Amino acid sequence: MHIPDELAERLRRANHVGVLTGAGTSAESGVPTFRDALTGLWAQYDPQELATPEAFARQPQLVWDWYAWRRELVARATPNPGHFALAELESRAPQFTLITQNVDGLHQRAGSRNVIELHGNLARVKCSRDDRVVASWPETGERPPHCPDCGALLRPDVVWFGENLPPAALSQAVRAARTADFFLTIGTSGIVQPAASLPLEAAQAGALTVEINPDATPLSRWADYALRGPSGVLLPALLAAAWPELNSA
Ligand code: NAD
Repeated sequence: MHIPDELAERLRRANHVGVLTGAGTSAESGVPTFRDALTGLWAQYDPQELATPEAFARQPQLVWDWYAWRRELVARATPNPGHFALAELESRAPQFTLITQNVDGLHQRAGSRNVIELHGNLARVKCSRDDRVVASWPETGERPPHCPDCGALLRPDVVWFGENLPPAALSQAVRAARTADFFLTIGTSGIVQPAASLPLEAAQAGALTVEINPDATPLSRWADYALRGPSGVLLPALLAAAWPELNSA
């Protein structure tokens, strides 16, 4: 896909690049989005119904096992060219903030350093009673295991539908959206709040806004540019258009 010259030029000259990523950014790494149908053992479940506090209260073992399966899937996955392009962009932009809704840690594995995780991380586990992160627990074979301090059930340290976002991460993300002069929204359906309002904050504060997604979303009409296609292809193309010397590297 051709990247418009003006867009490449604006990226090259940007002072603060803000980025919001969603599950689509990891799709080309083989990590299914919540809107992809699950396969195999999990085909009968709707991920949007498993990722809730109510599901955990009703069927803690089922939810624990589903996260254990996702953790293994992510451990086997590798970052794709879109993740690497974002790490490269971080090293080129004077100021750069990557805000992610993803819980898979693939941005960090691709070399991104300044990552705000809005929805937590699959690799961590916390106590379901007081939210304290727990690094280890006695292996008894129980699923979920129990908190070594208080005995409550342990759960993944992710934000489920209906739960609040970590306040510090959210306020850092809002600040970045309001101060970025170039804001990229990648691979998100734009319907999970409050993350979905960040591109609007950026647009209202005057940033140039760009969406990368194979499909239109509710955020598309706010974007100055909507690039239609997979981020693993379009992000490297955008970088190569902004910094042509990358083509010969
Ligand atoms: P989503 O599943 O709602 O939407 C995914 C979006 O990505 C869609 O708009 C789709 O068109 C787009 N997409 C698909 N393939 C793409 C590609 N190759 N390149 C670019 N875009 C592509 O995801 P969401 O908006 O992030 O919201 C769902 C919630 O699910 C989030 O809260 C997130 O925490 C969680 N989640 C995370 C992961 C992960 O960490 N990898 C995976 C699934 C869900």
